[in-house]
Amino acid sequence: MSEDVNPFESLQEQIDDAAAYLDVPEDVLTRLKNPERVLETNLTIEMDDGSLQTFRAYRSQFNGDRGPYKGGIRYHPGVTRDEVKALSGWMVYKCATVDIPYGGGKGGIVVDPRELSDGELERLTRSFAKELRPIIGEDQDIPAPDVNTGQREMNWIKDTYETLENTTAPGVITGKAIESGGSEGRVEATGRSTMLTAREAFDYLDKDIEGATVAVQGFGNAGSVAAQLTQEDLGGKIVAASDSSGAVYNPDGFDVAALKEFKTRTGSLTGYENATEEFTNEDLLTLDVDLLIPAALENAIDGDLARDVQADVIVEAANGPLTPDADDVLTERDVHVFPDILANAGGVTVSYFEWVQNRQRFYWPESRVNDELERHIVEAFEGLVDAYETNDLPNYRTAAYVVAIERVVKAYDEAGTWP
Ligand code: GLU
Repeated sequence: MSEDVNPFESLQEQIDDAAAYLDVPEDVLTRLKNPERVLETNLTIEMDDGSLQTFRAYRSQFNGDRGPYKGGIRYHPGVTRDEVKALSGWMVYKCATVDIPYGGGKGGIVVDPRELSDGELERLTRSFAKELRPIIGEDQDIPAPDVNTGQREMNWIKDTYETLENTTAPGVITGKAIESGGSEGRVEATGRSTMLTAREAFDYLDKDIEGATVAVQGFGNAGSVAAQLTQEDLGGKIVAASDSSGAVYNPDGFDVAALKEFKTRTGSLTGYENATEEFTNEDLLTLDVDLLIPAALENAIDGDLARDVQADVIVEAANGPLTPDADDVLTERDVHVFPDILANAGGVTVSYFEWVQNRQRFYWPESRVNDELERHIVEAFEGLVDAYETNDLPNYRTAAYVVAIERVVKAYDEAGTWP
């Protein structure tokens, strides 16, 4: 894991790599590589012991050419301004890859949520919602969950916004609980698109996913659901999984539902009785498996580690898990990497469905959500491989960016110039 690679520079490099195959004027390229605006603010809240504590928070609105800014809010001690900028840019190109009518945004608070009580977290979340209120809205900027946030935080943000605005506007935020206007299938959506991308990738590469060995780094919402669906729907064999406590391994494959239950009960994967071995996250990333799913944070695989990766196919459930150096090494070594902006796009795609349902006040059954999601991911996959083959591109990430940049630039051109 490489701490010193700046994700914002990685994003800019990825855009440059793709723009080299497109006829994008230099001035437009500058626009494609930089956020339109970034809110940086202090949130001061009262802690349970009566003291005050101040937390740094950000919201980056990267690009709104294709629609309202869209993207999650993460709570993590490692959040930085540049990380949030990068994540907001990835959202722009993610929404364009799967062709949903949004721009990109992202927010974050520098906090370790495990150190706060529920009451403190609620005050912190409502304080952020109050700061965000002037710049978010159903047609302006629509936040959602990300690392360490979920339905509970989204419900608080919706309630704060609606109370201050004296209205009902469930579409101001997505990833809500069902009773608060959430969508069926939203919780599983990121893992589901990861599974669908793996299915399409193996099919495209003429490889068998049934019985294929799979390692999953990160066992949060995205990783655990991707593992479970890859096992249950595709017959993949999940031989290794990890979280921040370490990795567990069993060459015969885990029953993922039981492993998830263990993690929920004990708080970590290590110590699981059906594991034959335990090792580090880094060992997991270099296991000899058919499919590797990085589902944790950015920069999990850098150039050095990439030389030791033995997987044939990588499907990215996390945002930005590979550094540009890692991409170069893996391209050179013919490892097939299917990028985050396609593979984990299920989350924001079902957020889009949630927003559509909120706007129409008409709710869909889960089967409709999953069918529409599958259609979007399969069509996006086909668009990506078409761009890859037609333009003879070096890898699938560049192909995704070529498709996405073309869409963003088209919307920008069509809008014309405003003084
Ligand atoms: N945080 C998720 C992502 O990185 C979902 C964003 C959303 O639903 O707006 O794609």
